[in-house]
Amino acid sequence: MPRDFLAGASDSYDVVVIGSGLAGLTSANILARAGYSVLLLEHHYQLGGMATWFKRAGGHIFDISLHGFPWGMIKSCRKYWSREIADSIVPLREVRFENPQFSLRTSFTRDDFTRIMTEHFRLEPERVSQFFDTARGMNFFDEQKKTTGELFHEFFPGRDDVVRMLMEPITYANGSTLEDPAITYGIVFSNFMQKGVYTFQGGTDSLVTKMKDVMIENGVDLRIRCLVEKIEVGPDRKVQGVIVNGRRIGCRAVVSNANIRSTVLDLAGESSFDREFVEETRAVRMNNSSCQVYMALKPGEGFDSSCGDLLFHSDHRGFDIDAMLSKDVSSRTFSFYYPETRPGSDRWMVVSSTNANYRDWTGLSEEEYRLAKEDLIETTLQCLEQYVPHIRSALDHVEAATPGTFERYTRHYMGASFGTKFEGLKISQELPRQVSGLFHAGSVGIIMSGWLGAVNYGVIVSNEVDKLLSTNTAV
Ligand SMILES: Cc1cc2nc3c(=O)[nH]c(=O)nc-3n(C[C@H](O)[C@H](O)[C@H](O)COP(=O)(O)OP(=O)(O)OC[C@H]3O[C@@H](n4cnc5c(N)ncnc54)[C@H](O)[C@@H]3O)c2cc1C
Repeated sequence: MPRDFLAGASDSYDVVVIGSGLAGLTSANILARAGYSVLLLEHHYQLGGMATWFKRAGGHIFDISLHGFPWGMIKSCRKYWSREIADSIVPLREVRFENPQFSLRTSFTRDDFTRIMTEHFRLEPERVSQFFDTARGMNFFDEQKKTTGELFHEFFPGRDDVVRMLMEPITYANGSTLEDPAITYGIVFSNFMQKGVYTFQGGTDSLVTKMKDVMIENGVDLRIRCLVEKIEVGPDRKVQGVIVNGRRIGCRAVVSNANIRSTVLDLAGESSFDREFVEETRAVRMNNSSCQVYMALKPGEGFDSSCGDLLFHSDHRGFDIDAMLSKDVSSRTFSFYYPETRPGSDRWMVVSSTNANYRDWTGLSEEEYRLAKEDLIETTLQCLEQYVPHIRSALDHVEAATPGTFERYTRHYMGASFGTKFEGLKISQELPRQVSGLFHAGSVGIIMSGWLGAVNYGVIVSNEVDKLLSTNTAV
């Protein structure tokens, strides 16, 4: 008999959360803490979604998306998770840029960027200050016609070196480009500029284990290897339940942490929505996907701390989104992990991340795919030799992930790493107006992606669910 991963589950709950990304986990935790019965269903064998890790022989543990997030994560974790989780969030020491236009090291704060922009790029201090204030003052309710490219042109016309420093890290952080609305840049950039870039000491495995403990304490019924096949919507356009691993479970509300397009088009199904809403959902563009190369050094072997924590490397001149996404990689972000990442360990690791087009990695034969991955690994090692000259002799394990990997583990359309473009946020927010009791919390609209965006969106949506459930009587 196959194992029943729903053994002991009730036949109905107040809330079913589909997916255990950071938004799904946060919603589940807040709603259980508020006293609702909550079932969390995750198709993968591990909780965390993109906030994940994997282990390899020899005691190596690789983090997938633990490269850096803004300081605001401390406050969100303290308020909605635990003091213990918040207290493990620590700043990165140094961010580096190495490209044909400049070689720089920074703490990635407003003060330090101001220093670089005035001393290195020779910009007027007043102009720089106005730029920061404008970016900081942007919010969701502003007009959204201005693009990020237009914002840069207004402040720093003709300065592709300045644009590169301001834009490249944000493109790596959330996939946004010069064509996206300026507010998506302003909000995310300003979040980072407040106090620099932070990480979770102990690694993603420790974070997710701690979150799991908090959820169990609050009474969330957690289930892995549980694939939701359908969200049941009644003829009155109210959520009734879900079908998971072939079993029906009733509920008063669903929070879907699955991709917004899959939530509408596949899980609930088109017939549950207005036609225009379905058309608008179909038109939502996915953000780019990623490739990564994971490199573990032999136990005790390391690299110099001068490598920094995050290194934005590029061989390309200027900021060029097509070059950044190209399979012919010219830009990489290296994350250098020192033993302090997991205190007590003797491991140094490097993870190289590149933004990637899903289409470049699909439709390949098995042999073409294998060769393409080998090439990605080889060119990455060649590039890394500039910074860690002995990397090949020190290497204990290396492997690569592609857009297909991200698609398989998270079921995101086109392996999207950072949810959708800006228009996805509207669909996500309007979902409960189409189907009562159906909510979405997860990476959408650029501003609601990344670790901080996902956690905060989970908070916002759980408040909406609470409002609905506290005014409705039980079914
Ligand atoms: C390579 C890479 C590097 C990144 N680096 C950073 C970084 O340094 N800093 C940062 O802040 N962010 C980073 N991110 C982005 C960040 O990890 C994500 O934005 C965030 O973790 C997404 O959280 P989420 O809640 O939207 O859900 P996701 O993590 O997308 O999780 C969705 C979950 O739903 C589950 N699911 C989907 N469909 C179903 C179904 N039908 N039934 C059951 N379960 C289902 C999936 O299995 C998954 O677990 C990175 C992402 C990638 C890919």
